Amino acid sequence: MIRVRFAPSPTGYLHVGGLRTALYNYLLARRHGGQFLLRVEDTDQSRLVPDAVQNILDNLRWANIFPDEGAGCVPEGAHGPYVQSQRLPIYRKYADQLLESGHAYRCFATAEELAEMRQNHGGYDRRYRDYDGMEAQKRADAGEAHVIRMKVPLGEIVDFEDLVRGHVRFDSAQVDDQVILKSDGFPTYHLAAVVDDHEMEITHVIRGEEWLTSTPKHLLLYRFFGWTPPRFAHLSLVVNISGKKLSKRDGDVSVNEYREQGYLPAGLLNFLALLGWSNGDNREVWSLEDMEKVFALERVHPSPAVFDFDKLRHINQQHLFAMGEEEIADLLPEWFTKAGLPVPERTFLVRVVGLMKQRCALLPDFVGGARYFYTDPESYDEATAKKRWKPESAELVEEFATQLEALPQWQAAELEAALRRLCEDKGQGAAAFIHPVRLGVSGVGGGPGLFEMLEVLGREVCVRRLRKAAEVLK
Ligand code: GLU
Repeated sequence: MIRVRFAPSPTGYLHVGGLRTALYNYLLARRHGGQFLLRVEDTDQSRLVPDAVQNILDNLRWANIFPDEGAGCVPEGAHGPYVQSQRLPIYRKYADQLLESGHAYRCFATAEELAEMRQNHGGYDRRYRDYDGMEAQKRADAGEAHVIRMKVPLGEIVDFEDLVRGHVRFDSAQVDDQVILKSDGFPTYHLAAVVDDHEMEITHVIRGEEWLTSTPKHLLLYRFFGWTPPRFAHLSLVVNISGKKLSKRDGDVSVNEYREQGYLPAGLLNFLALLGWSNGDNREVWSLEDMEKVFALERVHPSPAVFDFDKLRHINQQHLFAMGEEEIADLLPEWFTKAGLPVPERTFLVRVVGLMKQRCALLPDFVGGARYFYTDPESYDEATAKKRWKPESAELVEEFATQLEALPQWQAAELEAALRRLCEDKGQGAAAFIHPVRLGVSGVGGGPGLFEMLEVLGREVCVRRLRKAAEVLK
């Protein structure tokens, strides 16, 4: 039975790299009928961001990634919250166990001493490693502040098979005597993660490459406790197009920001999945459901994954395109509200979506990019007017408006036939009408097919706008 976990520290809002880690864990669990846990790793109390947990839960929900156990699972709290700060006695018990077995020791070095060691040795010089145990116990009993450190065996090779990176080895001399329990009684990440992964029966630890150097410490802890370690898979860094770690400077990095721009969860997840995974074919567009059927860690590459904003947009567009018009329309009301526009009548909106679908990559494109469907133009694009509006345009547009008023049928084909008739009457080419009419009705030079657009807008709106343009543009 595969059991995996996503274990964010609530030190900030959910990052796209974090969502990718959650996704890979989730996909592995779904692929094998296993379980996906969510564990909040809040042992570094000084770095907590107040609403970070809420943000993480909320964004996972938005992305349709639901944990089977732990924080945020449905029904709420069914399997305990799995929040590390609520499990302190457990870590204390295991730290004591390591003290007793001689795999850990108390360290009384003060902040000043540690600073000095960093300067002169580049790190902790293991000075309390062989300190008398009785003496240490006495000082601890007297209430002297101290931490507990793991006793890393020297001169050993710690190695393992990473499911993404292959064989990885570390020289234990490079591994410091890591603090496992802090003076405030909180465990460090290392102890808490190992204890929890063991107690929660995690079989696969899938996490970012930045944790790779922690893994030898974890493997040693497993050995000290006599536990079988899980399998590890370290995901490559997410980098920008110049190969540097993706940062705020490259653009948006938090999931919230993509939500706010109107990306679909399915589009973002598809894009994130391809940051490091491929199915071995060239297929680019994947639903979450389809990925759940085929995802395999063997197909995750160790090389850095480039975050290409254009590709994200392109993939999102593919997802929108594959959606039904009704389904898209269901998602739009909030975007009208955000734009300060009333939500249009449903049937009308569905027709607009049908016309605009090919031209939209993000949800708000159906609002801001199609504004003329909802409000009369307040101005006319200058460049288009200069190029397309001729001295005779006002008169031709006015004539067309009069024809439209009397048209028996309001359908694209009829509208087009009326325009062609008028061209013949006036001895003009179609362009003499088409461009000014589009500009007059929409205020801009481009958009969906003109006659379909007129049909959806309706007779009254078209006639009114054409007359107004003929008057304003002259
Ligand atoms: N709490 C760590 C983080 O914030 C988790 C690392 C791990 O998955 O072991 O990324």
